[in-house]
Amino acid sequence: MRHRIAVVGSGPAGLTFARVLHRHGYPVAVLERDPAPDARPPGGTLDLHEGLGQLALDKAGLLADFQALSRPEGQAMRILDTDGTVLRDWRPRPHDRANPEIDRGQLRDLLLGPLDVRWGRDVTQVVPGTREGALVRFADGRQEAFDLVVGADGAWSRTRPAVSSVTPHYTGVTLVETSLDDVDACHPGLARLIGDGSVAVHGVNRALVAQRNSGGHVKVYAQFRAPLDWHTSLDLADVEAVRARLLGLFDGWAAPVLELLRHGTAFVHRPLHVLPVRHTWTRVFGVTLMGDAAHLMPPLGAGANLAMVEGAELAESIATGPGDLDEAVRTFEEQMWIRAGRWAEITAAGLERLVSPEPAEALALFDQVHPS
Ligand SMILES: Cc1cc2nc3c(=O)[nH]c(=O)nc-3n(C[C@H](O)[C@H](O)[C@H](O)COP(=O)(O)OP(=O)(O)OC[C@H]3O[C@@H](n4cnc5c(N)ncnc54)[C@H](O)[C@@H]3O)c2cc1C
Repeated sequence: MRHRIAVVGSGPAGLTFARVLHRHGYPVAVLERDPAPDARPPGGTLDLHEGLGQLALDKAGLLADFQALSRPEGQAMRILDTDGTVLRDWRPRPHDRANPEIDRGQLRDLLLGPLDVRWGRDVTQVVPGTREGALVRFADGRQEAFDLVVGADGAWSRTRPAVSSVTPHYTGVTLVETSLDDVDACHPGLARLIGDGSVAVHGVNRALVAQRNSGGHVKVYAQFRAPLDWHTSLDLADVEAVRARLLGLFDGWAAPVLELLRHGTAFVHRPLHVLPVRHTWTRVFGVTLMGDAAHLMPPLGAGANLAMVEGAELAESIATGPGDLDEAVRTFEEQMWIRAGRWAEITAAGLERLVSPEPAEALALFDQVHPS
């Protein structure tokens, strides 16, 4: 029997879920608040791990397309001291495909493929029912019932309250993001500093990270410990005022490193919030969560990977299992909670070490992940 299934959100979790169902000929309604795929900038680059994001793409039949698009050389990572000294310069071996990078926009387009997303569907509430499933309410007043609603609607999920009263809390670490275009032609010095992948500079309670995307685009992240209201006297839309504040925060760092902050034409404020480590809930018939909606964690290379593998696994078990939806969801949730709980612990500890009063901690963490 074909169940009526909806997924809220067309991020990595929702699209992977829908794409794997689609591959098995199983219908699913993808409900997305954005009015169109390109309504907002898609964001930076993602590294997809062999056993997580790449496994999910394999289940979607998209691994070869990913391999053609992704950038294995983007795994390169350079660590600098605040005086500009290169402390580590790690490059992947020629056939290393463990964690290649892909632009988020390229990944979205790859997953979208033939999917018929319902754009502009702003979900305001999901009301779990009984054996009839769950009701989805939209901002325009409409509503629709489904046998299963999967909340893949990210950090501030509107689906989550149907199963859990927990909300994200601030980690104490903020990111301010800026971008550089055509870095090789316009900023060759920075292009050399960043190399093929990423460069990170760690100081006391702050860090600067730059990541190369495709086409010479670079994302720069200023990361620092601060209260959530650190910007009260600052107009975040005033690019020069934000730049001046950041240059003040990183005062004394080597001039070539500070160049990373001098050329961006816009700054995006991203205070880092997380859900409690090992967030779980009591099973609610007809509703589940996946991805950031279920286990928002610090952005240390796991969130999209988990979101995708969860989407692929639940879709596969619905499409190929014996047809008991509730049992498929129960098994899925138990697996998700174990794996995501482990990663939530790793990334929470990682954030403490990467933006730390003791910058040597960041280097020690790097050496654990990339032993020479
Ligand atoms: C700076 C940064 C760098 C990162 N780098 C990496 C990395 O390298 N590797 C990695 O694995 N992870 C990384 N992450 C984490 C990763 O981005 C997230 O974990 C991932 O995007 C989660 O996917 P998702 O599908 O669960 O949610 P999202 O990507 O947040 O997608 C949610 C979707 O739901 C839609 N939506 C929201 N509310 C509603 C609503 N009410 N109605 C309908 N639709 C709605 C949104 O518009 C969106 O399309 C990074 C995060 C940040 C901030």
